[in-house]
Amino acid sequence: METSLLHQQISLPLVNWFDTHQRKLPWREEYSPYSVWISEIMLQQTQVDRVIPYYLRWMRRFPTLESVSIASYDDLLKFWEGLGYYSRVKFIHKTSKIILFQYSGQFPENHEELLKLPGIGPYTAGAIMSIAFNKNYPLVDGNIVRILTRIFNFESSVERKETKIYIWKKAEELLLPGQARWLNQSLMELGALICTPKNPTCHECPVQKSCLSFRLGCIEERPVVQPSKKAVPIQVAVGILQKDDLFFIQQRPAYGLMPDLWEFPGGKINQGEKPEDALVREFQEELQFCVQVGKKIATLKHGYTNFSVTLHAYLCNLVPENQSPILHFASDYRWVKSEDFMAYAFPAANRRLIERLAKLSTI
Ligand code: SF4
Repeated sequence: METSLLHQQISLPLVNWFDTHQRKLPWREEYSPYSVWISEIMLQQTQVDRVIPYYLRWMRRFPTLESVSIASYDDLLKFWEGLGYYSRVKFIHKTSKIILFQYSGQFPENHEELLKLPGIGPYTAGAIMSIAFNKNYPLVDGNIVRILTRIFNFESSVERKETKIYIWKKAEELLLPGQARWLNQSLMELGALICTPKNPTCHECPVQKSCLSFRLGCIEERPVVQPSKKAVPIQVAVGILQKDDLFFIQQRPAYGLMPDLWEFPGGKINQGEKPEDALVREFQEELQFCVQVGKKIATLKHGYTNFSVTLHAYLCNLVPENQSPILHFASDYRWVKSEDFMAYAFPAANRRLIERLAKLSTI
């Protein structure tokens, strides 16, 4: 389809539809580069409804880029707790400092420069350029891949490099000069409200007439993706180590899974191992602590992208009591009172354990 025809049949109906159907979202109240950046980073892999309270809380606490750059990393992490993909916080912190010191606090209005900043890839750079600056740059996320593969009936797998290049090219061709802010958001909104992964409401779609997959009756087969791998089940033992009214927590390393978050010690249970024995071993290996494992307080299931974890949690004591940890895995540790748990950022499964602990009379 020629570009002008694409604009007439797809881009214009999309922008007009967005004008009347867009949801009222807090990051659409002003299109500052800072608010676009924070909202887009939060929205990566995360649903809009889940992001809204985090975004509002974040903006109340860190209303400007400068407030982020002077905040402590731990403070930022606390306001991110529960959103997952914690390396995003580290990148936000680094990028805020770079913009403050190297760009006098102003986001560069330049795609190449944006791409040099930590945590800003082609999608986020495209979002800042188009939504904040209203410059003609495309962006492609999972929603847009789905819409474009359906509209243009792409038959090749979206994991293939050539398909990805083709999708970005199509997203670029759809841009209406001077309307990138609205066109890109209209695609994102269509993916969220109409062209959903399952049961899209095609009868309400503004571009139904131009949608090849709809015409050919193969919507369900688009996009073509490799079957996703099943989440690997993992059994984990966790020890709530208690000394009088204090609890032992440790900070995860700055790299790897859930960097810098605080947690109760523990680890994977080996094949054929009892959870209690796994705990004694883990405390010894990671902290050189000798512990006595007491009452079991919870069995929780928690899903991650690639794992489904069953977590067995026990109260533990130090035997003898006067031991100091030698850290082989964690980067830091604290003995804290239960009322101080709120001051630390924990992974979601540990936060559930804290809630469970609060219900026990042991606190
Ligand atoms: Fe998606 Fe249906 Fe619209 Fe095609 S017609 S873009 S499949 S909602």
